[in-house]
Amino acid sequence: MRRKLAAGNWKMNGLKANLSEIEALATAHPAPGSDILLCPPATLIAPMAQAASGTALAIGGQDCHAAASGAHTGDIAAAMLADAGASHVILGHSERRADHDEHNEDVRAKANAALAAGLTCVICVGESEAQRDASNTLDIIGGQLSGSIPDGVTGHSLVVAYEPIWAIGTGRTPTLEQIGEVHDFIRMRLERRFGTGVGRSTRLLYGGSVKPGNAAEIFAVSNVDGALVGGASLKAADFSAIITALEAAPPQG
Ligand code: PEP
Repeated sequence: MRRKLAAGNWKMNGLKANLSEIEALATAHPAPGSDILLCPPATLIAPMAQAASGTALAIGGQDCHAAASGAHTGDIAAAMLADAGASHVILGHSERRADHDEHNEDVRAKANAALAAGLTCVICVGESEAQRDASNTLDIIGGQLSGSIPDGVTGHSLVVAYEPIWAIGTGRTPTLEQIGEVHDFIRMRLERRFGTGVGRSTRLLYGGSVKPGNAAEIFAVSNVDGALVGGASLKAADFSAIITALEAAPPQG
């Protein structure tokens, strides 16, 4: 059975005053039946890791540079994330692909850097609305998987998040059948490329407008091992309700 994972992406939100949310989350889930990951902005990684010390909560970054160090003003190397207390890093989020013109080969290079630093990569894939309307979803996802995920990953060092771009922050979600179709496809592609060991042990997250009100039905879909949650991860009460729904969902794997 795959252990479930609830991951929160705070994006460019959060000040030191918001660290109380992580304390509330840790108190609500002292011995969780799922993994819980929070990815705050870079400025909060170290204090959040300190606040999470001794709890079951893991901390992650939202991006890293492909180089180990050097003349890259404003960027952060994977080893710096690890040094600040991160165990994971989100890579290839659609907002980075759009805002920073990141392509699959960039994501793959960053993932290699993250793996070298001992981080687990949460690699995001997802289609635009126009691509879905043109029935290109699986082609797009297939290309993102083969282009963005490096060789040499394991079920521990890789998590894949399926995030339809049109569902992020919009309150819209695919149908449960559409989510299941994409997750089954991702599982099949991972098994084909990496073998059944890695393919079956890699956690697949759904992301895009997951809320306390729709979490349970999404978590019942085949091959959904958890969620990558944006807006609803900012408040401990909402994220906690999603974690509770995840822990009540049927086992997968
Ligand atoms: C995200 O950006 O990863 C995300 C899923 O956002 P939201 O939950 O707000 O749609």
